[in-house]
Amino acid sequence: RPDGHLNATLLAFGRGQRLLIARDISDLARLEQVRRDFVANVSHELRTPLTVIHGYLELLDPEDVPELAPVLGEMRTQSKRMGQIVEDLLTLSRLETQERITEERVPMAPLLATLRKEAEALSQGRHRISVESTAAADLLGSPKELHSALSNLVSNAVRYTPTGGEISIRWRREPGGAVYSVADTGYGIPAAHLARLTERFYRVSSSRSRESGGTGLGLSIVKHVLNLHQARLTIDSAPGRGSTFACHFGSERLLEPGNGEEI
Ligand code: ADP
Repeated sequence: RPDGHLNATLLAFGRGQRLLIARDISDLARLEQVRRDFVANVSHELRTPLTVIHGYLELLDPEDVPELAPVLGEMRTQSKRMGQIVEDLLTLSRLETQERITEERVPMAPLLATLRKEAEALSQGRHRISVESTAAADLLGSPKELHSALSNLVSNAVRYTPTGGEISIRWRREPGGAVYSVADTGYGIPAAHLARLTERFYRVSSSRSRESGGTGLGLSIVKHVLNLHQARLTIDSAPGRGSTFACHFGSERLLEPGNGEEI
């Protein structure tokens, strides 16, 4: 078929024998496309009514009807949450259909400074936050998408670490490239959940996630952004001990800071 999709596996046996298994996955691919379009269209359609509702809720003054003040507060919180879910779904749809990213220098020193400020603003003095940068390298990729991915990991660390915990943001060299990591001393994640964390809306505890203001889409966004940069996400975590989320970038994604040279 002209627009068909094939999935092929080549098996090798002894004495030079080969077996090629080809499966026609055109219907699956089309179904996936329909799902993507549907999510993108619904999210897009929800955007305007939500903006209107949110706008009117902001206009209402709780002092006019004091007995409704708690209700109004909750409506504002929930409409903001819904707005964030819609924005995250739109971001995911955009990332899923994107095949290439802009290849720009992403200076790491200012980005790490911004990430520290974001962590401090979210934490409001409840955690000890440290930043260590020894990689002496900038990244090559999309500044906007990389900021969103790296900042998602920081926000998760703050949201899933109780008061008094520590959060360490690091940018270091490793064999074959460099690694950006965010370590926390928070709740941690049981091993059984680790493989599914980057699925849309997958949560270890929905009540904790909801309380902490999450949309359940953050790690899916991180994974998509990293894929577009040929980078890998690793998660090391244990309940009660904390978690380390690390993004591993290959050396082809690294630039000497200050000049255009590849490392
Ligand atoms: P959410 O918006 O729910 O935080 P994410 O996709 O960012 O969605 O994360 C998915 C789930 O992974 C979270 O609901 C939480 O259970 C778990 N998680 C993510 N980061 C951490 C962390 N640093 N510590 C403990 N659990 C985490």
